[in-house]
Amino acid sequence: MRVLVALGGNAMTGPDGDAGPGAQIAAAAVAMENVADLVARGIDVVVTHGNGPQVGNLLVKNEIAASVVPPVPLDWCGAQTQATLGFVLMNALDRALRSRGLARTVATVVTRTLVDPADPGFARPSKPIGRYLSREEAAVLVGHGETWADRGAKGWRRVVASPEPVEILDAAAVHTLVEAGFVVVANGGGGVPVVREPAGLRGVEAVIDKDLGAALLARTVHADVLVVATDVPGAVLRFGTPEAEPVGRVPVRRMRELAAEGHFADGSMGPKVEAACRFVEQGGTRAVISTLDRILAAVAGEIGTVVVPSAANPEES
Ligand code: ADP
Ligand code: MG
Repeated sequence: MRVLVALGGNAMTGPDGDAGPGAQIAAAAVAMENVADLVARGIDVVVTHGNGPQVGNLLVKNEIAASVVPPVPLDWCGAQTQATLGFVLMNALDRALRSRGLARTVATVVTRTLVDPADPGFARPSKPIGRYLSREEAAVLVGHGETWADRGAKGWRRVVASPEPVEILDAAAVHTLVEAGFVVVANGGGGVPVVREPAGLRGVEAVIDKDLGAALLARTVHADVLVVATDVPGAVLRFGTPEAEPVGRVPVRRMRELAAEGHFADGSMGPKVEAACRFVEQGGTRAVISTLDRILAAVAGEIGTVVVPSAANPEES
């Protein structure tokens, strides 16, 4: 069996969102213990991860140090966090595998994901990134060509395009490593967004949703199961109300209806549900949205929100 595990922010930062190195290493250690449990069962594992807090920190450094060292573009920040988080995850995973007596090797692939320059996201950037600034501070950066939006009481925030991932360009490398027995970390932050131009590929200032990137990677590496690991036990209907109700095992057609009813918030649970539906619609066995701490049960579809092909449960769909 082959499983793609998509790690949310809580797997790589401290409980309060602390993105200091110590907190990241500690969180990665916990997450990789769970991943090692899968490997111990003979499961091929590919890991992907978010990078929001880490990119946010790099952007702050860019801003503060701009008069001393040249700021680097957002795609570079994405590549840097893929490498750094890959390094942290590999060390943690090596340790967890070794402690189980498992002689598996790990690898991280800096992964580029193709996006369409005509994606509507580029015309209307909407994904907020980085820290809040005052109107005056934001105006300086708008003068440098960035798009900033008034986010109300907290101040102004940079917004960028969040285009659809079209193709994982380094999927063949990931696939080859998996086939060769490596546990692979890839496509962090949804992949570094690039566009294809006559002269070749070029990185662009955008962020890809890591859950949508995970769904695409999962299909590309022929994963059977997609696990979207996050900080809640699953998707919930009427979330945050007294009538909240967890979604358990659900045929993909029904999950699409629930999504259309607006139960899953944009930018958080929404893309996880979308990723789960896409993966299953495109032939995946099941997609599970859950926490990481009971990963074996999650992979088996015994806990969390489990999206399955509609035909598997005709009476329910
Ligand atoms: P990650 O870093 O794992 O991607 P996100 O914060 O993006 O985590 O998404 C998980 C969050 O989605 C939960 O902590 C919860 O607050 C929020 N959320 C929004 N809508 C729902 C819903 N319908 N059911 C469950 N969680 C939801
Ligand atoms: Mg998220």
